[in-house]
Amino acid sequence: MSKLVIVGTVAFDAIETPFGKTDKILGGAATFIGLAASQFKLDAAIVSIVGGDFPKEYLNLLSKRNIDISGIEVVENGKTFFWSGKYHNDMNSRDTLATELNVLADFNPVVPEDYKDAEVLMLGNLHPMVQMSVLDQMETKPKLVVLDTMNFWMDNALEDLHRVIKRIDVITINDEEARQLTGEYSLVVAARKIQEMGPKYVVIKKGEHGALLFHNDNVFYAPALPLEEVFDPTGAGDTFAGGFAGYIARTEDTSFENMKNAVIYGSTLASFCVEKFGTQRMINLKADEVHKRLQQFKNLTQFEIVLD
Ligand code: AMP
Repeated sequence: MSKLVIVGTVAFDAIETPFGKTDKILGGAATFIGLAASQFKLDAAIVSIVGGDFPKEYLNLLSKRNIDISGIEVVENGKTFFWSGKYHNDMNSRDTLATELNVLADFNPVVPEDYKDAEVLMLGNLHPMVQMSVLDQMETKPKLVVLDTMNFWMDNALEDLHRVIKRIDVITINDEEARQLTGEYSLVVAARKIQEMGPKYVVIKKGEHGALLFHNDNVFYAPALPLEEVFDPTGAGDTFAGGFAGYIARTEDTSFENMKNAVIYGSTLASFCVEKFGTQRMINLKADEVHKRLQQFKNLTQFEIVLD
């Protein structure tokens, strides 16, 4: 089993969906990634930063799941990163109402000593220079570096983003972000252009329409499981990434064939994430529920056609 390092936000979120509204609750890219990856019972560590206002019980919740939190810096007189968003009626698009960087504005990540030789590195959504700094601290070259990002960083730090993208193996972004990054409408063309920027594997997330994995001329598509209830899509992308990276760390196999399974695992875990507000569903998720849903996924996509 490989070790996994996760860098990303540990945050407060305030969310509004057509089904309700929350005050500040636990959120952040690294939180969702960590909770997803913890399903694989790995040695995983989160590198992040929070303020003195961040409840200790939230940190305990992560460490109880075997996540090493020694790389989460606590700035006692600082405020935790805050994000607020409101979803449209179709739940596939949202408006960001607030992004308050707070302690994140001066964040110098420190990878715990024990994790500098981790085989899998998950660079969650954060300033690309912070992602770069974590990559630079690794003493042995990880077998797989996965990067997730969003339009916010394309708008605010595009040059830096290009520099880090050059050095990674897998990028996970959503369809709109892939279009923004390349200026191409076709996702096939966009994926090719992104591969030319560095990453050999490109995962394009399409919300309720599933995810595409590109590598050279190969494409794999995983639908999203049709769900009766979608309550809050926040964190689905990060949960997908955590499931993907966690599965690779667990299986220690970075082949395209195995990445297909990683995409299925990521999609399965993301399908749980959206069923409740924030991290609620992921916190209570049991292994047998995941297993059952993986079987549903298989049934959804399996067919026997005879071609002559
Ligand atoms: P997702 O729904 O997967 O795109 O991720 C939502 C999570 O990303 C929320 O929990 C936020 O705290 C976090 N987030 C939102 N904006 C940013 C940002 N600019 N940088 C890092 N994390 C962010």
